Amino acid sequence: MTTIERTAVPAVQLEDVCKAFGRVEVLKGVSATIGRGETVCLIGASGSGKSTLLRCVNLLSPPTSGTIRLHGKAITDPKADLNAIRSRTGMVFQHFNLFQHMTALDNITVALRRVRKMSRAEAEERGLQQLDKVGLRALASSRPSHLSGGQQQRVAIARSLAMEPDIMLFDEATSALDPELVKGVLDVMRDLASASGMTMLVVTHEMNFAREVADRVLFVDRGVIAEEGPARELLSDPKTTRLQSFLSQVL
Ligand code: ADP
Ligand code: MG
Repeated sequence: MTTIERTAVPAVQLEDVCKAFGRVEVLKGVSATIGRGETVCLIGASGSGKSTLLRCVNLLSPPTSGTIRLHGKAITDPKADLNAIRSRTGMVFQHFNLFQHMTALDNITVALRRVRKMSRAEAEERGLQQLDKVGLRALASSRPSHLSGGQQQRVAIARSLAMEPDIMLFDEATSALDPELVKGVLDVMRDLASASGMTMLVVTHEMNFAREVADRVLFVDRGVIAEEGPARELLSDPKTTRLQSFLSQVL
């Protein structure tokens, strides 16, 4: 492949993705393309299927039908290497689930050492670099109980980044935080979006973040993408009545 062809391959392609739990259809044919380095926010009412969609992308919850490609490779192919796929996608949840008995640094290095088989020194060097990126190097030896919720979430982001994913998925990463702690986490996400060419799919209720940081916004409504477009345009001039009504409730 030439360089041009390679960069033209989207980071994420969803083709008619459906997901049912028993008889309940949650995703009803989602198609979308996310370019490399793009930051895309998913917005929509609670229960519309946003988390399910993210969980399909890293196969935590494989789709019932349809195709998902990451960097051109169909991960929904039964022969796909799940470990390889999961190691290229990082996910940050609302609840960060750090190990309480470990320091911030150990929370980051444990997978590097056990899964990636890195030496302690190598893992700690990488861990400290990542803590630096989220502004917490000075707290490397603190335990989670001594960190604020916002700091814990930043450790969780650093933990995810330490695995060197090329796609980051954020599922309401700031929803469980006290209001004064939200900004620090959004700032880290903003830096990540602008810096490295990282592809980011971000489920959020922070409309200002979506407006300022996202390249595009997808509005998920009852299991489909009901509207999509450049962030500012979509948020200031929604076309569908469903999005108009959603935005009038959250803005
Ligand atoms: P959102 O993240 O937009 O709030 P979700 O993707 O979490 O929405 O959920 C969409 C719908 O799918 C909800 O009705 C939810 O109850 C249902 N759902 C999600 N996960 C499961 C599951 N594991 N089993 C059954 N139903 C589920
Ligand atoms: Mg959700």
